[in-house]
Amino acid sequence: MKRTLLLGAHTSAAGGLEKALHRGNQLGIKAVQLFTKNANSWRDRHLQEKEIESFRKEKIQWGIDPVISHVSYLVNPASGDKEIREKSHKAMVAEITRCEALGIQYLIVHPGSHRGDGKDVGIQRITEFFERIWEEMNEISVSIILESMAGQGTSIGSTFEEIARIMYGVHRSIELAFCFDICHIFAAGHEIRNRKAYEEILEEVDKVIGIHRLKVIHLSDSKKECGSTGMKISGRE
Ligand SMILES: [Zn+2]
Repeated sequence: MKRTLLLGAHTSAAGGLEKALHRGNQLGIKAVQLFTKNANSWRDRHLQEKEIESFRKEKIQWGIDPVISHVSYLVNPASGDKEIREKSHKAMVAEITRCEALGIQYLIVHPGSHRGDGKDVGIQRITEFFERIWEEMNEISVSIILESMAGQGTSIGSTFEEIARIMYGVHRSIELAFCFDICHIFAAGHEIRNRKAYEEILEEVDKVIGIHRLKVIHLSDSKKECGSTGMKISGRE
């Protein structure tokens, strides 16, 4: 199967969401990632009709396709804290609603952090989190993308096995995809600075998750050294 790789960027939505598309166009790219609201706040953001209209118009005008959103960093589907889980659920529903209104195709989510309750419990909570969203929202056209993590602290998703357990542990598995973050993967202990090692990693993605599920690659630089988070991506904690 032939696969196309589009180079894009995360652009700022300062001054209006459509500005992120405009900035993407100025950079000469066709794939844009943005935040539809402040990523470090629980505060919701209600879209105005005019805002939706100009976003959709500019998306067509500049030919930006796909558009990817990244949910708030505070959303934690693996949390055992009831209040955080409720807030995360509400924030996720609101984010999906915005994506649907704006015609955004992909929504990136961090699998979350179990905060000491263990990986199995955390993964169970994450699958329940998504099941509840689908139960309440029914038809959703935006694809939810699970991002690979660096394995710091109690975060889930630093191994491909963990991502696969979430992805294939839900009823509507087909609606979940994968985002490979090279900074996280490098910090988790994978030497990806040469072609051979990189190809090996992609082979492993294919074996464990399925390469067809890989929709986004975050090309981020790493401040941390290779393996500094003390975990191997293929090992279990
Ligand atoms: Zn992320």
